[in-house]
Parts: sequence; structure tokens; C-alpha cells
Amino acid sequence: MRMMQAAIGIDVGGTKMAGGVVDAKGKILYSHTVATPREFADLEREFVALVANMLSAAAGKAPVALDFAPVEVTGIGVAVPGSVNREKGIAVGACNLPWQNFAIKELLEGRFGIPTRVENDADAAALGALRYAPEAKGIQNFVFMTIGTGIGGGIILNGKLHGGQWPLAGEVGHTIVQPDGPLCNCGSRGCLEALTSGTAIGREGTDTVRKEQRGLLWTVYQENGQVTAADVTAAAEQGDALAEEVLRQAARCLAIGMLNIQRLLSPEAIIVGGGVVTKSDILLRYTKEAMPLIHPTLRARVVQVKGGSISGVRGSAAIVWEEIVGQVIDVTQGGI
Ligand SMILES: [Zn+2]
Repeated sequence: MRMMQAAIGIDVGGTKMAGGVVDAKGKILYSHTVATPREFADLEREFVALVANMLSAAAGKAPVALDFAPVEVTGIGVAVPGSVNREKGIAVGACNLPWQNFAIKELLEGRFGIPTRVENDADAAALGALRYAPEAKGIQNFVFMTIGTGIGGGIILNGKLHGGQWPLAGEVGHTIVQPDGPLCNCGSRGCLEALTSGTAIGREGTDTVRKEQRGLLWTVYQENGQVTAADVTAAAEQGDALAEEVLRQAARCLAIGMLNIQRLLSPEAIIVGGGVVTKSDILLRYTKEAMPLIHPTLRARVVQVKGGSISGVRGSAAIVWEEIVGQVIDVTQGGI
């Protein structure tokens, strides 16, 4: 009997690295997470060890009991923050990692002899949404946006990732929605990320409550010395006026960003995930309410994906199905 095929997905983040053996339907057969080492040599060693661990598990040789039969690994997908050289599989400049021009594809293909692809983490998440998110089922043209600590994005056109000219396309977080707005990490001012990310909402909430000293946020501030985006959304859900104000301001910027996307690409939907919108949909509700105040008729269809259906591991495994297995099928015209 032929072995079932599976992909290995490795999601390298600033604080943790997660690996998984994932089947074609997105079921995570085996996974393991380790802390991301700070030093280059340690990171390389731990990264290779994590891949080796996944390959052992796929071959049925994990240190723990497995409830699946050995699988055939079709490829390794690696998602990293920052820009990548897609063709060569190089992490060019991962902001939170000691990796500059790090040749991941060459390293893993040389070591393990298995086809490897490298993507930016937000692009991988977009591929994950395309392949696995039930909310995105049937949608072949969309812009994916992840609103968390920062704002990442990816563009799917006709069912394929739009990579753009090197280094990156789909950086919706760094589109500018407010001239002379707050300074962004990227060096520009008034980027969506500097106005609507979890970090931005927390910072704005903290600044505002320090001045206004009222409501639920003031209580939180007195306890913690700051407020987070989660505090702001929770307080707005309870009808706190100050929190609503902060969130509506962020939502207005998000609505501008989304309508710009709509104008530019006219996608079927803007699919949104990430920590800030996973627990509460209040930011997206406000965003929809802000759209008519910006344009009388132009609207973007906003689709929210719930936390579980996309994840770093699934997204990085999706790279394999979309970019390695998909290509093999293309060249053999379905003959495998
Ligand atoms: Zn920026």
C-alpha cells in the first residue's frame, strides 16, 4: 500500500519555533514547539534539530507514541518573519531573528534531501487560509490580513500567492493611511501597523487614559501601569466610552486601508485573522460601520477567520502543498 503523503511545516517566530507534520487536509499529525534561541549558532542547530525531529516522527520514530502510520514527506515549508528570497529560499532580513541572508533551502535540502521552500510568515498564513480556513472556502481572490502585535498581509490572486517583485508584495501593514501619523517600525509615518495593530491600540489606549483618567481603562491603568489592545477591546465590549473612542479611531484607519485595497485589487474578500480580532469582532464591526463615513457606496467584504483554522504550522505546511506538490502536478499534468 502506498504511504500517505504529508508535509512538514516549520514556523520560525521571534520567541518560538513550531514544527508540524501535516496531512493534505490540514490535520496536524504531530507537532513540537521550542523556544527560539537568540544566538545564531544555537538557532541554526535547534532549527535543524526541529526539522530532524519532524522527519523522525513522519517515519514513525518519535520518542512518543504516534497514532498514525509512517507518512511520505513531500516537502518542507519554512515560514519566517521579514523578507525572503523566494527563488533561492533565503531569509533575507528577519527582523526578530539573528538571520541575515540565511540560506535555509540550501541548508535543509543539503542536509535532508527533501524539497524545501521558504516564505514570509504572513504570506504563508495567506496560503494557509486559502488551503485550510473553512471561512475562506471557495474564495480564490483575496487579501489576507493578520492583525496582531503588528499587521502582516498576503495577496492571493486566482488561487495563487502573488509574490510580486522581490522582496515582498502584500505588506498591507505598511500602507500609509495617515500622512504625518505616528512613526512606524519601518521608518515611515502613519502606516496601518502604526495605527491599528495590537501594539498601536494598546499605546493609544494608554496615552488616552493617562490624559482622560476615566472609565474602565483608568481602573486597568491604575492596576497595570498601561493598557493593552485586549483591555481596550474588552472595555469597548462593555460599553466603556473612552475605549470605544480609541477603537473607533483605529477602526477608521483600518476602514481607509481596506477601501484602498478594494480600490486597488477589487478582491472577493479581505480575510482577517490575528490576535486582535480572534477573541472579539468589535474592531471589525466598527470598521464596517466606518466605511460609509469614508465613501457613500464603496465597501470591502470582510471575512473573519477564527483562531484555530489558521496557524503558523498549517501555513508553513500549506507552502509545500501549494508550491511543491502543486508544481509537480502542473508539470506532469496530473499524472502522479
Ligand atoms: Zn510601516
